[in-house]
Amino acid sequence: SVVVFGSCNMDLVAYVPVAPGQGETVTGREFRTVPGGKGANQAIAAAKAGADVRMIGAVGEDDFGAEIRRTFRESTVDIQGLRTAPGRSGTAHIVVDDEGNNSIIAIPAANGTVDGLADGDEEIIAASGSLLLQLEIPQSGVAAAAAAGKRHGVRVVLTPAPAVPLPEDLLRDVDLLVPNEHEAAVLTGQEDPERALSALLELVPEVVITLGSRGCVYGHRDGVRHEVPAFPVQAVDTTAAGDTFVGVLSTALGEGADVPGALRRAAAGSALSVQRTGATSAMPGREEINRFLAN
Ligand code: ADP
Repeated sequence: SVVVFGSCNMDLVAYVPVAPGQGETVTGREFRTVPGGKGANQAIAAAKAGADVRMIGAVGEDDFGAEIRRTFRESTVDIQGLRTAPGRSGTAHIVVDDEGNNSIIAIPAANGTVDGLADGDEEIIAASGSLLLQLEIPQSGVAAAAAAGKRHGVRVVLTPAPAVPLPEDLLRDVDLLVPNEHEAAVLTGQEDPERALSALLELVPEVVITLGSRGCVYGHRDGVRHEVPAFPVQAVDTTAAGDTFVGVLSTALGEGADVPGALRRAAAGSALSVQRTGATSAMPGREEINRFLAN
């Protein structure tokens, strides 16, 4: 089973022909609200892929919080560990232009209260096979959860996004680090993925660097390496490709798949998700991933 300790947002998305410059007003095409945030995205990706998933985090007292809760329930994510914090839910204000470029303002709000373990969190973590972490909540919260995961022999998986340099004592509790190319470069100062991989393996035992349409590279400290290509598909929206990848990867590893098999499943899951718009709404179910891999 999988537990996610991380962020939940409401994404407020405006679709425009061309994004406005400073002082400018433009007329947009469409507005959508969709639950997001890296924590919620990974939880829903894992649940859709077939895992038993628990979410620990916080939403606000507003209607967005209620909608986020509803989305988790519909996706069969257990939210006993999801708290309601005073004030607003986290929001991401996103502008997407006709070329698919986006700019985002993220306001943490309730996510900023997830700065450590609350009553019951340790038990939920201890009962799980994998713990998925990202960096959209305070680093003290990430560190406390990682330490709890380590104490209980849970596989600790960190997506180091948004990219910031990380303290080494946090990385000491991480089993598997899954940065994209940009995040790997920020963490190591190495632009070349192979070099970044080697540098990261000095800090954590297992690393996957995702390379967008070029797939991913995997390394284990014991010397094992795998390169897994992406599936050649027509991408229309790559939002949350990385979160889908991590959710599906953790689900497969938790079911006992070997590493190359789990990476291939993750690549299939994210290839399916980039062919549809939206984040959680684009994530594939278990059967769909099976069918895709059988073809
Ligand atoms: P992030 O969304 O975190 O930036 P990436 O862009 O590296 O992560 O994508 C994660 C994974 O999603 C890749 O390793 C790949 O398997 C898959 N993926 C991403 N973009 C595409 C694409 N255009 N076509 C096929 N697969 C893709």
